[in-house]
Amino acid sequence: MLTLEKYSFGVGDRFAHQGKAQLRAFEMLAAQGMEVVPVWNKSHREHTTIGSQPQDVRRAADAAVRELGWNKPYHVDADHIRLTTVDTFLESSDFYTIDVADSIGQPAEFGAVEAFVERHPELTGDLIVPGIEAPFRIARGEVTRVAAKYLLAVAEAGRIYRHIAAAKGTGRFITEVSMDETDSPQTPPELLVILAALADEGVALQTVAPKFTGRFNKGVDYVGDVAQFERDFNDDLAVIGWAVQRYDLPANLKLSVHSGSDKFSLYAPIRRALGRFDAGLHLKTAGTTWLEEVVGLAEAGGEGLALAKEIYEQALETQESLCAPYSAVIDINVEQLPAAEAMRDWSSPQFVAALRHDQANPEFNPHLRQLLHVGYKVAAQLGERYLSQLQACEADVSRNVTTNLYERHLKPLFGAN
Ligand SMILES: [Zn+2]
Repeated sequence: MLTLEKYSFGVGDRFAHQGKAQLRAFEMLAAQGMEVVPVWNKSHREHTTIGSQPQDVRRAADAAVRELGWNKPYHVDADHIRLTTVDTFLESSDFYTIDVADSIGQPAEFGAVEAFVERHPELTGDLIVPGIEAPFRIARGEVTRVAAKYLLAVAEAGRIYRHIAAAKGTGRFITEVSMDETDSPQTPPELLVILAALADEGVALQTVAPKFTGRFNKGVDYVGDVAQFERDFNDDLAVIGWAVQRYDLPANLKLSVHSGSDKFSLYAPIRRALGRFDAGLHLKTAGTTWLEEVVGLAEAGGEGLALAKEIYEQALETQESLCAPYSAVIDINVEQLPAAEAMRDWSSPQFVAALRHDQANPEFNPHLRQLLHVGYKVAAQLGERYLSQLQACEADVSRNVTTNLYERHLKPLFGAN
């Protein structure tokens, strides 16, 4: 069985130019004796916006691995696929993030909820889960409610899973089930019910991405109750440990944290929880590397800076259409967005300070950063002009990409203390 390693980290590379720069950050961590496995992830939506194909991601990942001589595992994730979008990923991916968020809350098949509740008397009443202080007390009515909300989504996950298995062969791919792109978070007891249902459905998932409490906005820090997040995260780990035993799910099943790319204030709580449970982790970033490309262009000055400004100006002009698909994951105060005229005069350090995610810098502007995060479409439309400028500013761009991944993400999560 193709088994996902204990620690894995999703890297997004929208324009397929930062494979090596990203991989270098993993090498730096490996040099400290810490093995974290890179997983290149790209969704159907990103491919559509950029005009790229799933095999481009595989090609970029393979090339980076070959050129740097990376001799450890790596994977290519078909991110947020559904039954309608999975087929183009069947050849090139070995990791599938099955997204069933759209089916949450849809009515389950007739009789399915009652049958589930009957089949799982262990879920009702006081449930002692090792690692959780107070036992869960789940009333039968609550099991029914959660089952009614999620069973159709679970059945859909089963359909997609079997579709992939029929094409690739059982055990020859890694499965994640994601429910993060939805309105309300899943509590730890809900996660338990969902895992029981996924086990019934025969989905051999190795990672699960619930929606956590709080806001995971694009490119900026977590907004929410960090203490509550930490309690839930710990309880989720306990639930997973219990579900693996009880329902015979893959032994390496672990949490996957998506969304937002830059949830820095959660890294310390996540790290503590992993230590407490000796648990694995998958964490996805995507847009953070695209933003470092823009930082690199700006830092290079000259034509690079001019292009970074042009991208911002166009993003400002088309902000409504850029932001619409991402409304649930951005909080932009338009009054805090610098006007185009003012921005045109900015020096390279000024632009970099506004965009780089350094919360200690008073010039950092999270509104500008979020807008540029969803503004990658502008760069996609610039096409060759954007890509050739990336090439021209390669040293500045790749330095920022590597430093960001290593210093701000991998080291706080996995690095030596
Ligand atoms: Zn996601």
